[in-house]
Amino acid sequence: MRVGIVGGGQLARMLALAGHALGLDFAFLDPAPDACAAALGRHLCGAYDDRRLLEALAASSEVVTYEFENVPADAVEFLAARVAVQPNARALARARDRLAEKRLFTELGIPVLPYAAVDTREDLAGAADAVGFPAILKTRTLGYDGKGQALVRDRAELEGAWERLGAVPAILERFVAFERELSVIAVRAQGGEIRFYPLAENTHRGGILRVSVSRPGDPQQAAAEGHARRLAQALDYVGVLALELFEAEGRLLANEMAPRVHNSGHWTIEGAATSQFENHLRAILGLPLGDTRALGHAAMVNFIGAMPERARVLAIPGAHLHDYRKRPRPGRKLGHATARATSPEALAPALERLCALAEETACAPGDGLRPVPRT
Ligand code: AMP
Repeated sequence: MRVGIVGGGQLARMLALAGHALGLDFAFLDPAPDACAAALGRHLCGAYDDRRLLEALAASSEVVTYEFENVPADAVEFLAARVAVQPNARALARARDRLAEKRLFTELGIPVLPYAAVDTREDLAGAADAVGFPAILKTRTLGYDGKGQALVRDRAELEGAWERLGAVPAILERFVAFERELSVIAVRAQGGEIRFYPLAENTHRGGILRVSVSRPGDPQQAAAEGHARRLAQALDYVGVLALELFEAEGRLLANEMAPRVHNSGHWTIEGAATSQFENHLRAILGLPLGDTRALGHAAMVNFIGAMPERARVLAIPGAHLHDYRKRPRPGRKLGHATARATSPEALAPALERLCALAEETACAPGDGLRPVPRT
């Protein structure tokens, strides 16, 4: 049984690593000749809208999934006419466009920060009135890891910020001094059964996720699950769905969703009974879902721009290393490590050492500010 994946980066790689244990084969469509998943299956090397390669991917796969939401809409349509595509095209279309995504949250009664659409220069003044300052301007499409975003402190900065982002359709969103950033990862099966992982508490810097700590038993778990459940049901979603949230004044506000396995769920490989990668495959293939229970407490630290020495990570008790085997480049996610322990207190020393290693090697815009994950 073969699974086709649009994208051959680290998420595709970790899906394949989980899938090989289940006896699955993989095909990846990715334009990069050195795509890091390529060693784990058949690599269809070419553009995401290459009809010949899309045809080959569809013909050789039981089901096609993807590792990023910016898959061109007509490529998804082309695939969906030939093979099962999960999560479905509707979920992908909503997640690809920040405005469509915010509107969906609002339609479903999921609280969001004040926002306004900025399609043209003429919309800037009205958006400023509606949202207030400070605010963040975000391009509607193609933003990731802090790209396509600008912090705008006051009205005078707004037009310049929009131009620097390329004067493309965007949303202006109120900046919130949140208490915590959280994410909930859900997995929904073809029959509608849905399971949730314990919340992850996330630390970003320079728009890039640095640290995720699992929070089994968190007081916000039920509220986060409620929001993710409504989303997954409304989209008739199949697979893993991540919902990123801000906690402010005790309330959860939805930031964005990812219709795929997510960086804040990497801790589930060692920290949960079934990883997000295996559960995504189980869901899209119509197999029974696995247990999402946490096995103790886990923390994941990303390695950005450069990898630490393997032996130094492995010398940390309870640490597991994941090297994606990608060419180093500033700001690029090259690997991660997860530590697991029986309590937050027992986890703290390993997390501290992993953060120190990530800090030593980190190479990304906005570095130089130490993350302070709480345990
Ligand atoms: P996003 O691509 O929307 O997930 O944004 C990347 C990161 O920027 C988030 O994870 C937050 O740390 C930060 N961020 C985004 N939007 C806001 C906001 N409205 N207020 C405060 N921080 C934000």
